[in-house]
Amino acid sequence: MLKKLVLFDIDGTLLSVSKINRSVLGDALKEVYGTEGSTGTHNFAGKMDSVIIHEVLGSAGLSEADISGKFELAKATYIEMFRVQAKAEDVTLMEGVRELLDEISVRSEMMLGLLTGNFEESGRHKLRIPYIDHYFPFGAFADDATSRNGLPPVAVEKAYRMTGRRFSADDVVIIGDTEHDIACAKAHKAKSIAVATGTYSSGELKKHKPDVVLENLCQTDLVISEILRSTTN
Ligand SMILES: [Mg+2]
Repeated sequence: MLKKLVLFDIDGTLLSVSKINRSVLGDALKEVYGTEGSTGTHNFAGKMDSVIIHEVLGSAGLSEADISGKFELAKATYIEMFRVQAKAEDVTLMEGVRELLDEISVRSEMMLGLLTGNFEESGRHKLRIPYIDHYFPFGAFADDATSRNGLPPVAVEKAYRMTGRRFSADDVVIIGDTEHDIACAKAHKAKSIAVATGTYSSGELKKHKPDVVLENLCQTDLVISEILRSTTN
């Protein structure tokens, strides 16, 4: 019987993308807005793609109205450029991820999904490159809410539509590599598993008090037992 809804972040958690992610976004924004703002140096970790676009252009002095007016065009331009330019060598799967996804996907008590700041189309493209897209029947993406904290209810609703099961907060597990993944889990009383494969060390992640901190996702049995373990124990 289905017990746990396991929601994975993409960048820094399942895989890493070379600097092409940043350069393509910069090129797309230059084409649409005439400036890439602070794209070259901005901290992207754990942020929604939509929020990143607003922040990097806001820092260049563009007004909210200017940014919003061309937002859909910028998003479409970025997605198209990313799909054309991102190649196999630009995406590195994190160690242990394929084995972990294999194991979770054959277990009838767990359902896999995505909870990510990526736009759906570019996020899915990142997953297709190392052939892990098929593990995720659904996801909550930057297209679905204005903030990351808005994504867990979207994921729960999509899981309900697919399975007829409404997962309670206790049965939702969010796995990610930044404080934003932890905060988003806490906001919804979901379990947070933080993994130090992104830009933050386990020590830095611990300051944000996730339920579990792991150095990586290599120990499949350990990760599975942490997913299943109740946070109230
Ligand atoms: Mg991440």
